[in-house]
Amino acid sequence: MPFRPLDELDDLEDIELPKPLPLRRICSTTACRGTARPGGRHCLACHARVVRRYRDRHAQQLAARRRDADALRDDRTRAADSARAKLAMALRRGTMKRGLCQSCGTADVMGVIEDSQRWRDVTWVCRRDRDDARERQRDDQAELVRARERAAWADERTRVLATIELLPPNEREQLHALAAQGPAGWTLSPEAPLYVMNLVRVYRARFSRGAP
Ligand SMILES: [Zn+2]
Ligand SMILES: [Zn+2]
Repeated sequence: MPFRPLDELDDLEDIELPKPLPLRRICSTTACRGTARPGGRHCLACHARVVRRYRDRHAQQLAARRRDADALRDDRTRAADSARAKLAMALRRGTMKRGLCQSCGTADVMGVIEDSQRWRDVTWVCRRDRDDARERQRDDQAELVRARERAAWADERTRVLATIELLPPNEREQLHALAAQGPAGWTLSPEAPLYVMNLVRVYRARFSRGAP
């Protein structure tokens, strides 16, 4: 996507501009002067201590919750095993018959039970087509993750560029000067995609983590 100079970003005028992030938030532990984690109340060290103390105090409840989760997982495994056993029995007794592969029509199929409660709803599919389907599922999942990452980056870029617009001119110029520093001493032009990435990165480094 081509980069336009900030003063031409007229489409940003239509949206409500977010407030600039506070420069630096102090850890809410008494007498601690550490920088609060982004989105948190405590600094990293205090946060770790708070979590540790919570785990110590609630050890019994946490252990019980873990046991319940294990039991639930065991229930699911048991239900799936039982569904497969019922299907095998039905095939042996001849009350159910194997179908053809739903994709290619071959008779060399395996039964796939999606829902253990409804084991009679079997999908018949050959091994090759099942593997293909799984691979497609994985690809779709990966594509979904990439699309989410792209959308998140576009959101953040819009938010950060809008926030930079609200900074005092001297701070804005400092950020732009840093963003123009390319690899190996090159000067980036504002049209370069790396320039925008740099701009967001230097903004983040300065304001999100509380430096300097
Ligand atoms: Zn602290
Ligand atoms: Zn097939």
